[in-house]
Amino acid sequence: MKSEELFARAQQILPGGVSSPVRAIRPFPFYTTHAAGSRLHTVDGESLLDCCMAYGPLLLGHAHPYILNVIRAQLDKGWLYGTPTPAELDLASLLIGDHPGMEMVRFVSTGAEATMAALRLARGYAGKMGIIKTEGGFHGAHDAVLVKAGSGATTLGIPDSAGVVPDLVAYTHQVPFNDSDALETLLRNREDIAAFILEPVMGNIGPIPPQRGYLEAVREITAAHDVLLIFDEVITGYRLGIGGAQVQYRVKPDISTFGKIIGGGLPIGAFCGPRKIMQMIAPAGPVYQAGTFNGNPLSLAAGAATLHYLRDHPKIYRTLDAGTRQIEESLPGDRQGSFVRLGSMFKYFFRSQPPANYVQAKQSDTAAFRIFWENMMKREIFIPPSQFETNFLSLAHGADEIAYLAEAYRECI
Ligand SMILES: *Cc1c(COP(=O)(O)O)cnc(C)c1O
Repeated sequence: MKSEELFARAQQILPGGVSSPVRAIRPFPFYTTHAAGSRLHTVDGESLLDCCMAYGPLLLGHAHPYILNVIRAQLDKGWLYGTPTPAELDLASLLIGDHPGMEMVRFVSTGAEATMAALRLARGYAGKMGIIKTEGGFHGAHDAVLVKAGSGATTLGIPDSAGVVPDLVAYTHQVPFNDSDALETLLRNREDIAAFILEPVMGNIGPIPPQRGYLEAVREITAAHDVLLIFDEVITGYRLGIGGAQVQYRVKPDISTFGKIIGGGLPIGAFCGPRKIMQMIAPAGPVYQAGTFNGNPLSLAAGAATLHYLRDHPKIYRTLDAGTRQIEESLPGDRQGSFVRLGSMFKYFFRSQPPANYVQAKQSDTAAFRIFWENMMKREIFIPPSQFETNFLSLAHGADEIAYLAEAYRECI
């Protein structure tokens, strides 16, 4: 069956026809049969150059042979035990070794679970119930962070989804990204804040990098007010480099959350922190967290293989950075929009200046983006179908693919 027919059927049996909202491309999404390297192959016979890369996890590309072999070898040994495994120590040691100050790790199954548990941990540790997030910052689809953007810094959070308990999100406050004064003002007026959670580089509306000094200011302000700082590095972990944003910007959070790349393309989440905080997690302490699939052997194997591969090939990051630079340099000088890139993360915003926060990003011309997206699809290039999702390069995007992309960007913009 073709994509159009499959989607017609899907709409009968899956809400919106999809398993996650961003996949609901109009008039119908393409259906993938298989993927390898930088390409997605569809039921319609297309071979698409993929710059979405499953929204972040596939830094090494689709079906990377090294990871594939590790997954195959693990499958032969079984794929779920419900017991401790030596592999937990391997991946935990890698995370700890790469992130100074992080001493203990809890593995979960998704990034959303990681941030959910990290916030519970922060509340349990601090004995305070308020949290702060950045406007438009994404931390997965769980209640405490499903707060409407634009509800303002000093007002109480209001739900961004039906079914979320208003009394719960009333504890969630928001500040604009890149605005340390707003954070300072909020904290000066509130005593009940346990933690500030943010993506150190906004990845779900951008990329929007932190302005010079912002993360340092955030670190200082949270410490001065006895508020835990949580870096959500689910995208940036091992994406910006080994050690993620916290090493690149030399700012140490109290708690870090990971996902995506650390599972090598299989489901995973993790949160880390110093021993004195992490000891609060059950069974060591009173903050409950548990899961059937926590630390599942297949994800741990694929994740550890990925991290070992990156350690053995540190030049990958420079190559990826050169790739997005080449795309940027190919763009016309008189362009109307702005190209933002950070290593292998990049995006063309249909807005004259690069956005510094959510409100500015939202001023982009989404109708223009839609035309751009369609023109890229005509060239068999798949970028995320939203002005507000980061594009990703992978190791599988070689010189030919980059050159093709650069030309397509130049023409389609
Ligand atoms: C993707 C993402 C999450 C959620 O991870 P899932 O595995 O999709 O639950 C959380 N935080 C950030 C920054 C993300 O990009």
